[in-house]
Amino acid sequence: HEELNIIEGALQLTKKSAANVMTAIDDVYMVDYTAILDFETMTDILHTGYTRVPVYEDHRLNIVALLNVKDLAFVDPDDKIPLKTVCKFYNHPITFVFEDTRLDQLLAEFRKGQSHMAFVQRVVEDTNKDPYYDVLGIVTLEDIIEEIIQCEILDE
Ligand code: ADP
Repeated sequence: HEELNIIEGALQLTKKSAANVMTAIDDVYMVDYTAILDFETMTDILHTGYTRVPVYEDHRLNIVALLNVKDLAFVDPDDKIPLKTVCKFYNHPITFVFEDTRLDQLLAEFRKGQSHMAFVQRVVEDTNKDPYYDVLGIVTLEDIIEEIIQCEILDE
């Protein structure tokens, strides 16, 4: 009944949101936009094993770029290139979704192929200020696929 379980998992996608499956922002490995790509920083990034690394400026909720580890392939640590230079060169698109975006909608978004990582945001209404956005976490295609597979495992 593996096929049924997978369908069951797929149907769950309409009931769950980005916030339900995201990796919380505090647990996200990120790098500072002002970092220099020296030996230490590059080793640090490569050792995490992540494919994509969000880049923030000033504070962690201010995401300004997305680094793909492949971008580092031709970077020589001895050249001490600013991360900023690499970010500007590749300029990967950053996708934002609201926390209540359903997983089936998110999957449709990922299928367009622009990026397989999205930043989950929320509008914060403050009586004294204009409303602003808070970044709550990241969600990737893998998080959605896990959601489908999980159902399969639980049912066994
Ligand atoms: P990777 O290709 O780097 O392994 P995936 O897209 O396969 O990343 O996602 C695997 C899990 O790791 C997901 O739960 C995702 O939310 C999380 N993840 C992806 N990138 C990061 C990161 N930079 N910091 C923390 N968690 C991450």
